[in-house]
Amino acid sequence: MSDNAFDVVVIGGGPGGYVAAIRAAQNGLKTACVDNWQNRDGKQAFGGTCLNAGCIPSKAMLEASELYERTGHEFGDFGIKVDKFALDLATMQKRRGGIVKQHTGGIAQLFQGNKVTGIAGTGRLGKGGKVSVEGLDGKKQTLTAKNVILAAGSAPVELKPLPFDHKKIVDSWDALEFEKVPKRLGVIGAGVIGLEMGSIWRRLGSEVTILEALDEFLPMVDAQVSKEAQKQFRQQGLDIRLGAKVTEAKTGKSGIKLSYETKDDKDSLEVDKVLVAVGRRPVSERLLDKDSGVGVDERGFVEVDDECRTGVEGVWAIGDLVRGPMLAHKASEEGVMVADLIAGRTAEVNYETVPSVIYTAPEIAWVGKSEQQLKKEGVPFKSGRFPFAANGRANALGMPAGMVKMLVHKDTDEILGVHIAGAFASELIAEVVLAMEYRASAEDIQLTMHAHPTLSEATHEAALAVDNRAIHIVNRK
Ligand code: FAD
Ligand code: NAD
Repeated sequence: MSDNAFDVVVIGGGPGGYVAAIRAAQNGLKTACVDNWQNRDGKQAFGGTCLNAGCIPSKAMLEASELYERTGHEFGDFGIKVDKFALDLATMQKRRGGIVKQHTGGIAQLFQGNKVTGIAGTGRLGKGGKVSVEGLDGKKQTLTAKNVILAAGSAPVELKPLPFDHKKIVDSWDALEFEKVPKRLGVIGAGVIGLEMGSIWRRLGSEVTILEALDEFLPMVDAQVSKEAQKQFRQQGLDIRLGAKVTEAKTGKSGIKLSYETKDDKDSLEVDKVLVAVGRRPVSERLLDKDSGVGVDERGFVEVDDECRTGVEGVWAIGDLVRGPMLAHKASEEGVMVADLIAGRTAEVNYETVPSVIYTAPEIAWVGKSEQQLKKEGVPFKSGRFPFAANGRANALGMPAGMVKMLVHKDTDEILGVHIAGAFASELIAEVVLAMEYRASAEDIQLTMHAHPTLSEATHEAALAVDNRAIHIVNRK
């Protein structure tokens, strides 16, 4: 095989692409991964949106800002007197950068250790497994591959009245890197990014107003759980305005004036910066030559089947570039599946058990169906709920807000969905994902011993509550 010929070429080095490349190499396939992510210093780094500007840096800032807020507002309740404390944003940002570097550097090492050829450049798929690459150093080369995995990811959607200037009208990457706390921060979109970023900057001192076009708050989450979360966010001071559509933005000396419409009113809001977080779009432009044969839908998603095959022999596509939730773990699981299928192994992704998490306080995590979805689909179900206020560990942590809600089939008792708002919901959800993967019933969770005192006891109790047998709440008659 010549130097430029590979069994597998992956275009894109995010959690979809780099994971696919590592698994392909583990499977004994000669693999290259071409990636064009450039950090602010112009240097390429593997890890894509997730490691460089998404999952990892946002969690670093969420953790730091939560500690800051707890120091100011909660330590007194724990009997800890803090007379003096101050925000050192520069150090907080440096820590974020350090964590990102550690993880992106780790990918480069994993590539070396697994003999994946990492190429810093932009790849474009041609016909017959040819990938033309323009290196970030300007050098051009053509790679040939028996299999190509497209993993080019996504980018923020821009709103017409609010084109990004990356100073006052910013995207999520910009908003992670503010050097000063904005006095007034507007956020367009009360989705995952809006809530996470809004929480970070509110905790650090911004007045945060979120304008959301829909009348409903987090419609994908079970309504009882999202209502509880919304109540908590409002108590914290996040000003969430639902049913608000921005019509105009005017930048002036004193800030940005956002005009917006609600069902029966027109209003405006003045802010110093505005984060536009209204979703992301697949990066499929300039990825495919006209004769590549790969289909792209009207929204730019590369068309694939359940096994991520594009329909062109040997060309696959994964992650944010294709249908389904835009989540790192979904991208990675698709990468593993494709690399295994290429190697002739059996592999699949169970799209019914993709967990979602919003890392706010309380955290919100869910998997499977919500009550409103089950009603709409006419599925007979029963449900059980358990509040963290009745859980010893949650109270010891000083985090009693929220609940676990479990939905199960009325006749078979199979778990159909679990929705959690509460402390460490991100960790609690793993138990029920595994349970659903095994098609477990509420009874299976009821009969499983959970350590005391743990937050996981709330999941146990929610399963018991399905049959009105929870111990630490008074059950429905
Ligand atoms: P990406 O991570 O976008 O990677 C694609 C890579 O391909 C990039 O490096 C890009 O530069 C490169 N590329 C594009 N075109 C080409 C080309 N032609 N040639 C070469 N390279 C190319 N998800 C979670 O699951 N949990 C979270 O907590 C979470 N937090 C997030 C926070 C923020 C602020 C954001 C923005 C996103 C977050 N996400 C989170 C979503 C997550 O980042 C994405 O779902 C995930 O990164 C998708 O992985 P991917 O590999 O498909 O694409
Ligand atoms: P999102 O789809 O989660 O939320 C966008 C929100 O903007 C929606 O509520 C939508 O109704 C609203 N909206 C759309 N147009 C609007 C308009 N014109 N005016 C006001 N509101 C409008 O998208 P996002 O928050 O931008 O996140 C993008 C992707 O990144 C998501 O798919 C998400 O899964 C992923 N992500 C995941 C995590 C995580 O897993 N914790 C964190 C951040 C991002």
